Amino acid sequence: LFRLDDKTAIVTGAGSGIGRAIALLYAAAGAGVVAADLDSTAAEETVARIVRGGGRAHAVTVDVAAPEGIEGAVTAAVETFGALDVLVNNAGIYPLGERLPGIDWETYERTYAVNVFGALRCISASAGRMRPGGAIINISSMESLSLSGPGNAHYSSAKAALNGLTRAAAVDLGPQGIRVNAILPGLVKTEGTSGAPQPLFDNIAAKAPSGRVGEPLDIAGAALFLACPAASYVNGHCLLVDGGITIS
Ligand code: NAD
Repeated sequence: LFRLDDKTAIVTGAGSGIGRAIALLYAAAGAGVVAADLDSTAAEETVARIVRGGGRAHAVTVDVAAPEGIEGAVTAAVETFGALDVLVNNAGIYPLGERLPGIDWETYERTYAVNVFGALRCISASAGRMRPGGAIINISSMESLSLSGPGNAHYSSAKAALNGLTRAAAVDLGPQGIRVNAILPGLVKTEGTSGAPQPLFDNIAAKAPSGRVGEPLDIAGAALFLACPAASYVNGHCLLVDGGITIS
């Protein structure tokens, strides 16, 4: 119930942080993994780690915000591993934003292009090629429900749109036997958040019932559950994985 043997997964943004942890855990659970990232070297490094551990993986360079999206990764999944079963829309950006009423349109457009339209393009490119029993997992954010502070309208609204897309895609793809769910992580220590001020980590750790900030593996564990047969009746769900921070 908790294995991915004979399954193939594409993980976007697999060269760093949460995406890399998901790619490594999926491979350890038996999946063939296509590690897709804008950063080719980082994707290759994820693949090297999987192969060193005895797993199966293939790196592909993609920009999920480009018109061709992950078409190359879908082709690689089918040609290298023979099928496609799981897509994890993890590639995302969280640039600093301006406090409203200020609007930096460039930041909004890029944030939406990657976090919303990127996921949409990837779903569209892959769903038709997935086998029944497939799963799509969108990595959203706690920030879509509960704001950590001002200047986050671009990111919060983009991730809220991703939650809506998750539910709509679950309805549309259900007849094909594909489930679609989202994970809403709280603050997680990754390469991407390494520049955040230490007090932010300390405050979250002090406030969270779990008493700490998240690790990439915390999110990967949830992503493994949602991809596996164990979650076969979980559909259209937005799963908070935040150590309880939003309820405290
Ligand atoms: P990260 O910055 O450490 O890694 C992101 C990876 O995505 C990088 O390897 C980057 O090259 C790749 N990427 C960026 N834009 C891309 C594009 N257009 N096409 C393909 N690949 C691209 O990020 P992270 O902290 O691991 O976050 C991963 C996801 O989790 C994001 O969607 C983020 O919004 C979400 N998230 C993160 C946190 C956190 O605290 N780290 C919290 C909530 C949600």
